[in-house]
Amino acid sequence: MIPFIDLQSQFARIQPEVEAAMLAVVRSGQFILGPEVAKLEERLADYVGAKYCISCASGTDALVMALMAKGVGPGDAVFTVPFTFMASAEAIATVGATPVFVDVEAGSFNMDVAALERAIEALAKADASIHPLPRLPEAELKALKPKGVIAVDLFGLTADYAAINTIAAANGLFVIEDAAQSFGASANNARAGSLAEIGCTSFFPAKPLGCYGDGGAIFVNDSELDTILRSIRVHGQGEDKYENVRMGITGRLDAVQAAVLQKKLDIFDDEMDNRQRVAAGYAAALASEAIDVVAPAIPAHHISAWAQYTVTARDAVARTEFQQRLNAAGIPTMIYYPKALHQQKAFANLGYQTGDFAVSEDLTSRVFSLPMHPYLADAEISRIVASLIP
Ligand SMILES: *Cc1c(COP(=O)(O)O)cnc(C)c1O
Repeated sequence: MIPFIDLQSQFARIQPEVEAAMLAVVRSGQFILGPEVAKLEERLADYVGAKYCISCASGTDALVMALMAKGVGPGDAVFTVPFTFMASAEAIATVGATPVFVDVEAGSFNMDVAALERAIEALAKADASIHPLPRLPEAELKALKPKGVIAVDLFGLTADYAAINTIAAANGLFVIEDAAQSFGASANNARAGSLAEIGCTSFFPAKPLGCYGDGGAIFVNDSELDTILRSIRVHGQGEDKYENVRMGITGRLDAVQAAVLQKKLDIFDDEMDNRQRVAAGYAAALASEAIDVVAPAIPAHHISAWAQYTVTARDAVARTEFQQRLNAAGIPTMIYYPKALHQQKAFANLGYQTGDFAVSEDLTSRVFSLPMHPYLADAEISRIVASLIP
């Protein structure tokens, strides 16, 4: 049985170091923030190339805290994509703001920047003939204040921040990079997490850099944002513990997780190299066997973190056949994502309809993801691809 992701092989590789690091935290009695968290933040900031790293309790909290730091709340609109994990749009709703969806491109799975421009114009004019908008009462729609953009680096490939940052700046919007799936990726030698004003990532176990529970981090270059985010992380604390100067949350990363993450960071470059090997192996095998799927294409000067290796079948029937063949051979596959967010019941209040985001809807019916992890052997890659053939 080939695992979809292989945390066991990784653990076997670093078991003594990880166990010692966890035990050291337990023995130290320093469970909340403290030296391990500070050391991790320094290493993460250094790795990403950002001035400040604020670790936190999850990728979702990272997004919520970022929106809180930007003062986003009821009556505000934030643009994001519908073809992503729930949290990207959920964070917007959590702070009381309204997600305004923008479709993705089929090739990169990331935000379509031309559609973003149309969405901004449509909202400014409250004119859904320019781009689909939430079907809210007219007065409510007209009163929405556009505040920012959350772009997502889906499956590990960074979105087009050169374009997104330019469009956002021209319209007075902030940009948050949802780098939950792209830690370790880069674009033109700049690392994911550093590509927008605020970068948010996740250390959920299945992400490229995962801990043994929930965790996340925020990256910024602005010292004032750093201070605000550290305050939000601890109930809006001010100069001392029992002074509260704003609303916040319990958003801290556990010291045990910070210790685990440092041991995983020690081998992360090697793991990233192996993810590139696996992706290249898939691309070569899919091409040489002439498998009828579209393999992911990575633009020049970009390196994906390969959170997922997601291919696109011709149609839903072909996808089911591929998945059944692999399943029969004991090879797991997943569908990320089977439903676009504008079609989820949780966002029914926005009034979006099927047909609003044709590319996202089409992708949900055709994509599937193959096993992807740094410990996948070349022979296993060949076997997986051979198992796709009828
Ligand atoms: C996983 C993920 C998140 C949320 O991260 P958690 O740590 O699970 O809260 C946010 N956005 C995207 C795109 C993700 O894949």
